[in-house]
Amino acid sequence: MGRLDGKVVLVTGGSRGIGRGIVETVAAEGADVAVNYATHADEANAAVEAVRAMGRKAIAVQADVSDRAQVEAMVATVTAELGPIDVLVNNAGIESIVPFLELDDAEWQRVTNTNLKGPWTVGQVVARDMVGRGAKGAIVNIGSIQAGMVFPGRTHYAPTKRGIEALTTNMAAELAPHGIRVNCLHPGLFDTDMTSWVMDDPEILPHVLEKIPLGRAAQPKEMGPAVVFMASDDASYITGQSLYVDGGMLIL
Ligand code: NDP
Repeated sequence: MGRLDGKVVLVTGGSRGIGRGIVETVAAEGADVAVNYATHADEANAAVEAVRAMGRKAIAVQADVSDRAQVEAMVATVTAELGPIDVLVNNAGIESIVPFLELDDAEWQRVTNTNLKGPWTVGQVVARDMVGRGAKGAIVNIGSIQAGMVFPGRTHYAPTKRGIEALTTNMAAELAPHGIRVNCLHPGLFDTDMTSWVMDDPEILPHVLEKIPLGRAAQPKEMGPAVVFMASDDASYITGQSLYVDGGMLIL
């Protein structure tokens, strides 16, 4: 018996990194999975094959999370092919490092569109569908350690991740009467394409690891169990909360 048996889970940005880890973990708990991606179709299809190898259904679905028309088409496709969505994991995100004084409007817009407008848009489209069906469900938003810590060059990225906390609490309050729970998970340092500039640099990596009490980066699959907890009935009385999955980074 898996903790997500028979559930349909949509993971945005499920093609790579943390999202890919979440895809495999929820499938191992019995879920059928829709793997959303932006451009990397091969990686999304590989994630789909990994899920099917576990005996669960899966599809890859391309959509820019910040584009409402694409999001509505994605939700319609998932519903038609896998069934109505029970769990949404708002994971897709992008990061860049640009000093505040050099940041321009285009980069601010690009990052905030994906990281904040994206979870808001997908969350609203999925929640409207759940409420319309009278279905209870769960939404898990993926934030960042940068909701609670300052790193240089992130005056565009960090506000999106602090903003996801406010999105989480406000969505949780409005959706609770409908039986929909909304929670947030903040990753610390995970070994993915996004962090390869840290992980692959023997000069930088030791300085970052010094700031992590557990002394290492996480593997992508280490986010999945926290998602399963928040999405399953194990967390039936938890909503509007944020949990740092960061090896203790925030406490130093
Ligand atoms: P990756 O760069 O490894 O993967 C990003 C994923 O997001 C890919 O699947 C990508 O799709 C997808 N994506 C990007 N833009 C869009 C878009 N507009 N629409 C749909 N999908 C999109 O990132 P990580 O796995 O490292 O990060 C996952 C989440 O965790 C992000 O929200 C990130 O901010 C957060 N995070 C990560 C940390 C880390 O240490 N790695 C630390 C703190 C937070 P495609 O493959 O098609 O490009």
